[in-house]
Amino acid sequence: MQFRGGYNILLKGRPGGAIKAMPEPKILYLPLSSRRFTFSEICVEDGQSVSGGDVLAKDPNNYAIPLLAPRAGRVRLQEIENYIILEDAAKLKEHADITDEDLPHIVEEMGASGIKRYRLLTLGAWQFFYDAHTGSLPDPLGTPQAIIVSTVSLEPFVARGDAQLHNRLLNFTRGLEQLQSLLEYQPIYLVMPDIKSDFANLIRNHIRGHASVKMLEIPLIYPFDDFAILARKLGLKPGEGPVWSVRTEGVLAVDRALTLTKPCTVRIISMGGTGVNSPTHIKVIPGYPIKRIKDKYVFEPVSRIINGGILTGELLGTESLGLDTECRGLTVLPELQDREFLGFIRPGWDRNCYADCFLSSLRKKFRERLTTAVRGEGRPCISCNFCEEVCPANITPHLIHKYLYRDLIEEVEEARVDLCVECGLCTIVCPSKIDLGKQIIDAKVLIANEKEEIRQEKLRQEELARKSIEEASE
Ligand code: SF4
Ligand code: SF4
Repeated sequence: MQFRGGYNILLKGRPGGAIKAMPEPKILYLPLSSRRFTFSEICVEDGQSVSGGDVLAKDPNNYAIPLLAPRAGRVRLQEIENYIILEDAAKLKEHADITDEDLPHIVEEMGASGIKRYRLLTLGAWQFFYDAHTGSLPDPLGTPQAIIVSTVSLEPFVARGDAQLHNRLLNFTRGLEQLQSLLEYQPIYLVMPDIKSDFANLIRNHIRGHASVKMLEIPLIYPFDDFAILARKLGLKPGEGPVWSVRTEGVLAVDRALTLTKPCTVRIISMGGTGVNSPTHIKVIPGYPIKRIKDKYVFEPVSRIINGGILTGELLGTESLGLDTECRGLTVLPELQDREFLGFIRPGWDRNCYADCFLSSLRKKFRERLTTAVRGEGRPCISCNFCEEVCPANITPHLIHKYLYRDLIEEVEEARVDLCVECGLCTIVCPSKIDLGKQIIDAKVLIANEKEEIRQEKLRQEELARKSIEEASE
């Protein structure tokens, strides 16, 4: 399989493979929104006692995906806006298993596969699924043209698939079998790194017996693990049905929900970046107090915390109290407030740069100690073409930037801004410090919204025309 573009940024603070459990919390702060979900339909009352796995809230715009109680406890609704607080959290009894007798209507309407899909949704495993082309939550009752399962996470510093797979290979293969049982004939593509290692060979041997699982080996270059890029490379077209995509943690959740019929509330997330004591993976639950994690792992007194990886993560505000349900890792960078002492005599010595124009290009490859400092000012585009070189979507970010500058929206559309996979590489490599990624994502949303408006207007006109024909015939 041929890939284009891509670039690995070498950074210090990569989490190791170990997984450490955090101490049990007494209180949980569950955010009512995350990247894709808004849990606006509250299903509990203030003061109510709940068991672990009970539904606290649902997102009505995402197939009623539930926010589950990760522990037993007492609900507080009004104390902090946009959070459900769970007091006296305790690892007591878990939500009872769902039996088939509880679901007679589903058994009748959808058969065995329908029940499994319903379980994935209600037990919290479905939230690990993405539509490869849109990144949104797919319809759990839809029919995918294929499933892409990725064991690879290439963005620094999100939770690594290999760390999550250690000691769970059996659960993983069982999860794959469960996924297979949801399909009729559609293939499952298992994405693996194209490296030789004992562990990679072990996975290959485990999978070899599964005829419907096709191995897909990719180079370890960011962002070749991106689901949209993989779907394009596999020739899975957007118009031919959704492509379900799921990472290691999602397959493990499928196993837990379908083999054990247990709620999926535990997360393994990364703690990475140069502001962290011994970067690692930690086992936590949604709502886990961020302050407790900071107290244990963050050593820099003034630091910036990012929810997710360094390229696509979002800044975690100081007001954030608990981990959201989609968190895959926290990245901590020291916040530099003062000018670096004698910085002018070592220009770029400690910086990796795509352009090889700093003093650091004389050094052997090294991992940079990334901070929040920005050296130098923004400039106009110098047409160096770096953004185009790294773009994995084969579009021309610098041209799009110039069209946007002149408000040439039609040209932006023709330059296929819709193909952008939002990897953020163009922004990282730009020597002029132009935030190309943001500009392109904003343009993509603008054009998609305009198209949707036109589509809705067309539907409205057709409906009006149909009604007037009906009235005329009466
Ligand atoms: S244009 Fe989009 S896909 Fe291309 S490098 Fe920039 S963010 Fe990535
Ligand atoms: S990387 Fe920046 S300066 Fe270079 S061509 Fe792209 S937009 Fe222009």
